[in-house]
Amino acid sequence: MSEDNNTATPASNFLRQIIERDLASGTYASRRWAHSPGEASHQAGGDADPARIRTRFPPEPNGYLHIGHAKSICLNFGLARDYDGVCHLRFDDTNPEKEEQEYVDSITDSVRWLGFSWAGFGDTNLYFASNYFDFMYRAAEALIQSGHAYVDQQTAEQMRVNRGSLTQAGTDSPWRNRSKDENLALFRAMRDGQHEDGAMILRAKIDMASPNINLRDPAIYRIKRATHHNTGDKWCIYPMYTFAHPVEDALENVTHSICTLEFEDQRPFYDWVLARLSDAGLLAHPLPKQYEFARLNLTYVITSKRKLMQLVTEHHVDGWDDPRMPTIVGLRRRGYTPESIQLFAERIGVSKADSWIDYSTLEGCLRDDLDAKAARAMAVLDPVRLKLSNWQALFGTSDAEPCSAPVHPHHEAMGRRSFNLTPEIFIEREDFMETPSKGYHRLFPGNLSRLKYGYVIRCTGCEKDATGQIISVLAEIVPDTKSGTPGADSVKVKGVITWVSAIQGVAVEVRLYDRLFTEAHPDAGGRDFLDSLNPDSRKVITAWVEPGLENAAAGAGYQFERHGYFVADCRDTKPGKPVFNRAVTLKDSWQK
Ligand code: ATP
Ligand code: MG
Repeated sequence: MSEDNNTATPASNFLRQIIERDLASGTYASRRWAHSPGEASHQAGGDADPARIRTRFPPEPNGYLHIGHAKSICLNFGLARDYDGVCHLRFDDTNPEKEEQEYVDSITDSVRWLGFSWAGFGDTNLYFASNYFDFMYRAAEALIQSGHAYVDQQTAEQMRVNRGSLTQAGTDSPWRNRSKDENLALFRAMRDGQHEDGAMILRAKIDMASPNINLRDPAIYRIKRATHHNTGDKWCIYPMYTFAHPVEDALENVTHSICTLEFEDQRPFYDWVLARLSDAGLLAHPLPKQYEFARLNLTYVITSKRKLMQLVTEHHVDGWDDPRMPTIVGLRRRGYTPESIQLFAERIGVSKADSWIDYSTLEGCLRDDLDAKAARAMAVLDPVRLKLSNWQALFGTSDAEPCSAPVHPHHEAMGRRSFNLTPEIFIEREDFMETPSKGYHRLFPGNLSRLKYGYVIRCTGCEKDATGQIISVLAEIVPDTKSGTPGADSVKVKGVITWVSAIQGVAVEVRLYDRLFTEAHPDAGGRDFLDSLNPDSRKVITAWVEPGLENAAAGAGYQFERHGYFVADCRDTKPGKPVFNRAVTLKDSWQK
């Protein structure tokens, strides 16, 4: 049950152990916080940091968040919540050109929708890395001053060749030993726009023979004439991500900087940058520490932003929020709940080893969440008419016999729903066989079945059109067998039929969604992921539903009995005219 899962003690993992150890030994207890990001002198003016830990979720605002990001969000915000800390939402917008307001808005919405807040201890904690450009520039000058950075004028190709390889040490740049003054003058000239894009870069001076290639004098600043969404044309030089990231963490007093495994080899440079800047007096100890965990890989799903973008721009899907997309907005529209995604993050856990999670794990979390809380309703997805031929003999001129059912079979407090049995109803086409196959228990001539929440009926045959297609099934009501009355159990039947009144039911558009790809690893081994697009990932049908669903609110979720979980589409549902999306079937139909 989701209620239980949300309050249960989360399973321990290596990150929790690290945090608990740090808290026990008071590693971060001496930090001061001036209620805004800033360097050592700024923070020194503040009181003791009330947040016991600070984590951050640092998306680049260049796309929509997806289920992989959700893992990182649940992890970072979850740890902050569980250890009396706070998690910052930081837009990593140091790369000009790519960022857009649309993405910023969608990212804040998605994190909030997932159930998390970045506010805490009187601060909003919503930050933009581009606000740190001034500091980053000063930090770069400080590295030059202390002899830890130089301006390199090699061509990109020379730099590539001189970097060496895994088996071969690199070669020092001829510009590596310039004087501080020359470096400073050149770096300022870079800043002042006196050199072409790519003409030179600022590099950290570390070790061209390091076994870790990332320490072979990595780039710190590059020249790039690009208008930045926040700082406009103020800068024509921009910091590299690997330099900017540790600085951002430190300015924000982050304690545990959690990222995905591919950054493991960058950790020594992360520590190098922070140590040099604290030596220069710009940053105070204790410094943030980086930890890596395995990113989420989910079968039948792609999580590359570039490929998701391609699905959208080439119209393979209807947009970022297409219910087949693994984006948070897509999952939400599909019918996923924040609780189901949190449950998923909890179930998959965190580890340091890359692995694949089966898509059915995600679906299972949605089923488990919705089973406990979704209102039930009857719906007929593939309708055939059924006529109750002895109606008049039993009910006279009345053409409506009231029936009722619990809204939820295990939660009486959710109340009851009412609908009428009428002389003609719709049932699923597959619930009638003129000539039954072996073991078939539903309707065939002479057989008894129960109309769910209604009467036992005896099938008497069917009517066909000129082509032989069955246009209606015929049956008689067995008197005194109504569900909920003393006679209900007097006749034993094996088949139970779901149905909707043909007179009072409501015809609605239903979109039957399935996996977007037919291959478990659509982009593995350099394969073109478009080759395995599932042609049947969306079927649009007209279904019949209980009259009570006519006014379903956009976003409302239901279990259509025996079919699965459906949600009123939040974009296309209009008052009195719901459109339903199938979120997930009741059972996993992909299980081999
Ligand atoms: P890009 O290729 O554009 O950098 P990205 O997926 O890394 O894409 P970011 O906006 O940089 O996108 O990601 C924000 C955060 O989400 C990062 O800290 C990253 O570690 C985390 N993240 C991204 N993808 C996954 C994933 N599949 N599993 C877990 N965490 C992820
Ligand atoms: Mg990234």
